[in-house]
Amino acid sequence: MRTAAIVTVGSELVEGLRVDTNTSEIARALNAVGLTVLEATSVADRVDLLTEVLKRTIARCDLVVVTGGLGPTHDDVTREAASKALGVPLLRDPRIESLLMPIAQRHARPEAAEQVLTQADVLAGATVIDAMTGTAPGLVIPTQRGTLALLPGPPAEMRPMLAKVLEGIDQSRPAPAQMGVVGLSESDAQLSAQRALEDHPGVRLTVLARPGDVKVILVAESTDADGLHAAADAVAGALGEHVYARDDSSLAAVVIGDARRAGVRVACAESCTGGLLAAALTSVPGASEVFAGCAVAYENRAKATLIHVPDELLRRFGAVSREVALAMAVGAREVFDVDLSVSTTGIAGPGGGSAEKPVGLVWFGIADGEDSFAYERRFPAMGREGIRDRSVSYALDLLRNRIRLR
Ligand code: AMP
Ligand code: MG
Repeated sequence: MRTAAIVTVGSELVEGLRVDTNTSEIARALNAVGLTVLEATSVADRVDLLTEVLKRTIARCDLVVVTGGLGPTHDDVTREAASKALGVPLLRDPRIESLLMPIAQRHARPEAAEQVLTQADVLAGATVIDAMTGTAPGLVIPTQRGTLALLPGPPAEMRPMLAKVLEGIDQSRPAPAQMGVVGLSESDAQLSAQRALEDHPGVRLTVLARPGDVKVILVAESTDADGLHAAADAVAGALGEHVYARDDSSLAAVVIGDARRAGVRVACAESCTGGLLAAALTSVPGASEVFAGCAVAYENRAKATLIHVPDELLRRFGAVSREVALAMAVGAREVFDVDLSVSTTGIAGPGGGSAEKPVGLVWFGIADGEDSFAYERRFPAMGREGIRDRSVSYALDLLRNRIRLR
């Protein structure tokens, strides 16, 4: 297993004055080249604390990426801490010094000019990554286990330097395998995947719950690309039709892509989801090729006037019913003149429930040519937004399944 740590330096980060975006960005990049991140730590601008953190992470990890504290001011202590942690001196690099000289000369006070030039202090044995946008160069230093990279804090300066650092990393370990899973709980997905992985050692499983669906990530800890692919195939086989993507695609993107390939035009009619389904579909670039539109028919009158749900059905069965869900889907299909439409009507709560129709009850309709179908879901108490999010995923999954059957 090849391991990494991320250290972000800055009192503003630990005091909550700035959000640390570098950690998640770097972590994703390291993961993508197959490194396992064991630790991510933020430290105040203090030499003693940073030295301690660097000693610990350098001893444990193959790659340690540090951001921040490389600037010219008194609170920039990263170079000094790295020098202490590694027991390696700082030497003034004449080439960087000459690059910085024009900036130093802009300062009237000699102390200020000297501060600028401290950015030319390089750890003995380090490789310098020249500043592309800012002034502070990055430093890459060999350690006993691997590599220590010191990068500037501003994300725009950090980013290109990180890419340079990763170019030098052995990328032989495969990138993690991902899949999107819908219609299974996080724990059901995890149990099935774990069982499938019993015959595939050396692969670590991560299951992340998202609103409405689940993401499964497989990391090769001690296996090669073939081993990881075999494990991913086994997990996908165990999860079956619940797997909607073998990459990071969203469910909505999969629906739009499938509809395009199948030549199916789609519309929707939404009550309890209030346009969230249309928002998900239209968030996919190029959705207009297959998505015609949506009627947000919230109150009964809107259901009658916009998508021609008969008053009689609304009176007899109520808005949240099999009959109205079907009529909404059929009406939207006609109004938008599409091949396939889906509808949502339910009780998202917190009020409005009854013994017969509790909060969480949602009816879905599908109209596909001559056929129309209704589906009933009773979502557990998960709050209004939770019920609406789950309804969107369920409706998208109905579309996905229906398109596959055509
Ligand atoms: P520094 O390199 O420590 O002088 O950082 C300069 C500026 O970069 C800070 O004032 C922040 O605005 C930004 N910055 C530093 N570290 C981070 C981080 N971890 N995430 C996002 N922005 C950062
Ligand atoms: Mg700083």
